[in-house]
Amino acid sequence: MAGGVEAYYEDESFRDHVSHIDQEGKRVWFYPKKPSGRLYHWRTLLSIGFLLVLVTLPLIQVNGLPLFLFNIVERKFVLFGVRFWPQDFFLFVMGMLIFIVFVALFTVVYGRVFCGWICPQTIFMEMVFRKIEYWIEGDASHQKALNKMPWNAEKTKKKALKHGIFFFLSFLIANVFLSYIIGVDALYRIITEPLSEHISGFVAILLFSGVFFFIYAWFREQACLVVCPYGRMQGVLLDQHSIVVAYDHRRGEQRARFSKEARPGAGDCIDCHECVRVCPTGIDIRNGTQLECTNCTACIDACDTIMEKINKPRGLIRYASEYTIRTGRKLGWTNRMKLYTGILVVLVGLESFLLVTRTDVEATIIRTRGVLFNTEPDGRISNLYNIKIINKTSHDLEVELRVPIAGAEVRTIGRHGLMVKADSLLDGEFFLLLPPGALEQQKNKIPVELWARGQRLATETTTFLGPSRRVVTSAPVVPQVKAGHSDEQEDHETENDNH
Ligand code: SF4
Ligand code: SF4
Repeated sequence: MAGGVEAYYEDESFRDHVSHIDQEGKRVWFYPKKPSGRLYHWRTLLSIGFLLVLVTLPLIQVNGLPLFLFNIVERKFVLFGVRFWPQDFFLFVMGMLIFIVFVALFTVVYGRVFCGWICPQTIFMEMVFRKIEYWIEGDASHQKALNKMPWNAEKTKKKALKHGIFFFLSFLIANVFLSYIIGVDALYRIITEPLSEHISGFVAILLFSGVFFFIYAWFREQACLVVCPYGRMQGVLLDQHSIVVAYDHRRGEQRARFSKEARPGAGDCIDCHECVRVCPTGIDIRNGTQLECTNCTACIDACDTIMEKINKPRGLIRYASEYTIRTGRKLGWTNRMKLYTGILVVLVGLESFLLVTRTDVEATIIRTRGVLFNTEPDGRISNLYNIKIINKTSHDLEVELRVPIAGAEVRTIGRHGLMVKADSLLDGEFFLLLPPGALEQQKNKIPVELWARGQRLATETTTFLGPSRRVVTSAPVVPQVKAGHSDEQEDHETENDNH
């Protein structure tokens, strides 16, 4: 590049095309050189940890429930061994909102660290499938040569072996994936019981295996470049202060071939193209931050190796912000970073608080529609109620209802009372009897406590109807009950009916 740093800013021709499509509109197949170096080593270790965790988590059970389950079809969700019900949907919505804000703020400050280090797509592609490809077909130049050669015994053997292993791995990933959706027990039944009993499960495994095989054998980096919404959002999330994998053009320009002789006016970049050769998305990071960059850090390692060889300091390509590169300032812990990180901590804390304070038992108590109060022989007033109790715990609960009013009595209906099975919902009915002296008005707000195992689990408030305290001047009217009325509406009508 002639013209030094100024020309570096002016030349934006690389923005006129995308790396993975050639001028004829055909896909460019990348042959990235096998990376090596300090960061690649750490990424490999992190990936091993990630894969171990990914495979182990579905096997862990807490109180008879899996640690994680995301059964969308049956609407069963388990997080950290705690079952979430549709009634906990607000937690899910809050979690999603927090997640979106978290992702946006995190990316504004830390760029695409997630893509390079944690994203399952990157880990499977670069740390599993790509490594197998290097092992079977050799490094980039050997792969290129193999693909160009006519079909012979060597090529057939290598391709068959590679794709055989790829499909087997895709099959394993599909099983792991399904174990998060239907649970390991259901998955085990699909695998071990006769095929005829689990046709849909078997088809799902094959379908997912096919999808994963397609992605890792052929689609590859296009998942990040074309499909991934997070990747597409980078253009609006990143700014000049975001930390990205960046080329220090102030130090690197003007690039010139390495020579043992003096290179007047030359920067540290020797234009060796090693950073481009290792890039799995086929870009030249020296052009600046680009949508295709997944921050995989392979170019950092490649350039550091070159810098060591030519006795220059490492870090010509490094984690930095565009601002720090342009101004020459060091990347520091800025107020903006502190603020955003503080907000992230608060958001995570908020969601954690909501999860921790979530109740194990939830109840809805509604006065039975169309039924007024009764006056018992002993003078007490009774109302009939419908109750729904959700037991979110993994043990059965014998629920007892208590009303903290002197002379109050709860009479449950049915032989089994309010025995709520673990992890299930109970529909029940009960009468509440109150002495007339306890009623201050015709329509009263009454607290009903749910007790089990000597503990108060929840307190719900419901309405209790009693006789009118006003003088009745007209004949009573039989109440007309309309389907779909709310408790409040009904109370209003019955109140009038009694007048
Ligand atoms: S690896 Fe480093 S020295 Fe070589 S072209 Fe890339 S930036 Fe320049
Ligand atoms: S430019 Fe560097 S960090 Fe970005 S994808 Fe390519 S090799 Fe990875």
